[in-house]
Amino acid sequence: MRILIIGTGGTIASTKTERGYKAGLGVDELLELAGIEKNDGVSIDSWDLMRLDSTLIQPEDWITIGKALWESLEEYDGIVITHGTDTLAYTSSALSFIVRNPPVPVVLTGSMLPITEPGSDAPGNLRTAITFASRGIPGIYVAFRNKVMLGTRVSKVHSLGLNAFQSINYPDVAYIRGDSLVVMHRPCHGGEPLFDPLIDPDVAHIRLTPGLSPEVFLAVAERTHGVVLEGYGAGGIPYRGRNLLKAVSKVAPEKPVVMTTQALYGGVDLTRYEVGRRALEAGVIPAGDMTKEATLTKLMYALGHTQKVEEVREIMEKSLACERSR
Ligand code: ASP
Repeated sequence: MRILIIGTGGTIASTKTERGYKAGLGVDELLELAGIEKNDGVSIDSWDLMRLDSTLIQPEDWITIGKALWESLEEYDGIVITHGTDTLAYTSSALSFIVRNPPVPVVLTGSMLPITEPGSDAPGNLRTAITFASRGIPGIYVAFRNKVMLGTRVSKVHSLGLNAFQSINYPDVAYIRGDSLVVMHRPCHGGEPLFDPLIDPDVAHIRLTPGLSPEVFLAVAERTHGVVLEGYGAGGIPYRGRNLLKAVSKVAPEKPVVMTTQALYGGVDLTRYEVGRRALEAGVIPAGDMTKEATLTKLMYALGHTQKVEEVREIMEKSLACERSR
């Protein structure tokens, strides 16, 4: 059994400096501090690809990580990627579109407390990730706080607590009980492995708030190739007072406007309310039950392949990596 661990930084690899936590440790140091042997039944190789706080991660870095993954897939039975938690859900979603149908498990993990701090969750998370990566269930996952979730379905839901990630609108894939890993759900998987690194980062995400100015929306839409509009609840666009719907109707036939929701669970259903139906008539593309992270990175992926709204719609509406079920 051969496992590769690719380090990219994050709190898990951070040490205290005069200017706060900074990602500086390499994978070998992480393993040593976690008390994990490199040759104890499982043979572990390490690759220090980046040492970044994940706040600094850019879409181009997803391609660098995706390329490293793609080049390593044939040589290993499983791959673990250590990553900062702040943008981990964006990276796990983006990687799921860039490297599709990987033939082995790819597991992202991180921690809320640096590995050097007492009571750190890093050793446990690292062990869960390595255990799942050794189980031969292909796909891209996130291991955090004793559970394993699908990479396209996670969101960070806590800025301090150790149980910082949840699987949204999708069951957990596995969890650790005592010394054993219990697999609960095998995600859809199939098709040829594919490295598809075309993405267009020129996308904006706007949160709808009462009184949002249509001019602000138009100015953002003008400067980008596509917009994710984060509405309320099941979704809809205001047309009373400041008429955002009018502004969206102007943009949506030319540039994709994708609607997601501020609610963590449930996703959007634009057929439910009149305000939603009007949004559909204006040409808005519903994000269904996708996470915000999957919606944004998938829009970048779609725009990397075509700028035609109807083709973007087609890509957004199908499921590429189990990211949407409706
Ligand atoms: N700021 C850190 C990062 O995302 C937070 C963490 O890893 O928990 O890199």
